[in-house]
Amino acid sequence: MNHYGKHFVAVIGGSVAGSEAAWLLAEKGYRVVVFDQKMLPYGKIEDGLPKWHIGLRDKEEAAIDQRLMHPNIRFVPGFTLGKDATIDELLNEWGFSVIIVAIGAWQDRKIPVEGIEKFYNKGVIKQNDLVYWFNHKHEPNYNGPQYKIVNNPGIVGGGLASLDMVKIVMIELLQEGLRKHKGVEVDIFTIEKKGVAKILAEHDTTLEELDIVPCTLFYRRNAEDMPLYPRKDGSPEAIEQARRVSKKLLENYMKKFLFHFEPRSVPKKLIVENDQFKGMTFQRVEIVDGKLVDIPGETYDFRTELLISSIGSLPKETPSLPIEGNMLKTYGEFGCRVEGYDKVFAVGNVVTGRGNILESRQHGRMITDKIIEEHLEGDLSGNDPMGEKYEELFRNIEQDAIKKVDNIEATLAQEPPHSNEEIDFILRKTKELQERVGFDGNYAEWVKKHKPVRLEDLLRQH
Ligand SMILES: Cc1cc2nc3c(=O)[nH]c(=O)nc-3n(C[C@H](O)[C@H](O)[C@H](O)COP(=O)(O)OP(=O)(O)OC[C@H]3O[C@@H](n4cnc5c(N)ncnc54)[C@H](O)[C@@H]3O)c2cc1C
Repeated sequence: MNHYGKHFVAVIGGSVAGSEAAWLLAEKGYRVVVFDQKMLPYGKIEDGLPKWHIGLRDKEEAAIDQRLMHPNIRFVPGFTLGKDATIDELLNEWGFSVIIVAIGAWQDRKIPVEGIEKFYNKGVIKQNDLVYWFNHKHEPNYNGPQYKIVNNPGIVGGGLASLDMVKIVMIELLQEGLRKHKGVEVDIFTIEKKGVAKILAEHDTTLEELDIVPCTLFYRRNAEDMPLYPRKDGSPEAIEQARRVSKKLLENYMKKFLFHFEPRSVPKKLIVENDQFKGMTFQRVEIVDGKLVDIPGETYDFRTELLISSIGSLPKETPSLPIEGNMLKTYGEFGCRVEGYDKVFAVGNVVTGRGNILESRQHGRMITDKIIEEHLEGDLSGNDPMGEKYEELFRNIEQDAIKKVDNIEATLAQEPPHSNEEIDFILRKTKELQERVGFDGNYAEWVKKHKPVRLEDLLRQH
């Protein structure tokens, strides 16, 4: 065995970033253990990407599987960093040469309004929780939180993911309205593709007739400021084009999904009556030199029983990781090393997920002109540019991992190789963890056994 095989690397989190980093190192001959808290290593693909993106989900998950089936990679499901072991334990007691943290960003950024935590799941739903429920609620063994989408919900946000929240809410309201008033069942894939307006027309009805009060999206800036379309570069023309397309995309989504939009609105104060959540007071702002400035005396109340918070995801507090104010503290080139350690690196959303979805700067523009034109021209039933935008973000996350692997390798080169006893120790410990969850090491079989029941398959059976 060459000296590569005498180094063991731990990767925490096996999704887009973790699997890419693991595969690159495995290809170079290093041994890698990929730990994931879940039974399957699909992260945001499975639990964050709304379930109507069937093709994209399957493609990304297959790519992760392909990488993790590398013979130099050992997958350990059901291991939570901070609970089952800390970074210090993995380094000092288990003896890993290097640790790569790829745990993503799963903590919803808090709307900065006093007392809001008290109403989580009692009127206020966090985006990550809502999508998890939406994606999995059809599974026969689903036992997570249950939500009911009621009329007139508010959504606070402004990025790609907040438009997904709009779609989820409008799909749920329409399904319920059609069921109740027309006795018809329309599946989510059809509604998402055709849009609410077209489905209503097909059933010769209206939102009012179905007793539906649509949702309102509240954004702190204007429609053209939404990060829905990447800038080609920093030129004034490219900035203007991105603004124009973002505005047009939002207008088209409004026509298709029939929701309301309130620009320049910042949450200011909860409306609470008898200890119950009853809505939000918003402050109207203006934009001066790019900054938000309150307009004195211009506040308004939005009364609702359901507010969805969709203002971005940050890394979760994890024991032994220096997460401060919900930011992972890193240093070195590309923000690569985790502060306090010289052999711990961070890749993927745990470092890149800063609030709202970042605009792509590294990977160019992947959304094709054709699809954008279709949307601008008003063909609202064609392909959805959101799928392409997500795909682009996944590729960026991979690029982040690729960029960092050279630094990681340089560190590995300076580490003394493991002895056979040290290798055996890691193999034994990780085998014990695999056995704890009943995993015999056959990755392909494991995936087959644990893949959730898919809604599209259930619909096909009926
Ligand atoms: C709804 C949505 C929103 C997005 N938002 C952004 C954004 O804001 N910014 C951006 O750049 N890109 C964003 N993206 C795109 C981005 O490419 C994906 O989020 C991508 O999946 C991130 O990959 P990752 O591997 O870093 O993290 P994830 O896909 O989140 O994977 C993290 C993995 O780590 C595991 N894990 C977490 N904690 C632990 C622990 N303590 N112990 C062990 N395992 C753990 C998880 O189970 C998971 O498998 C978004 C994508 C979607 C679908």
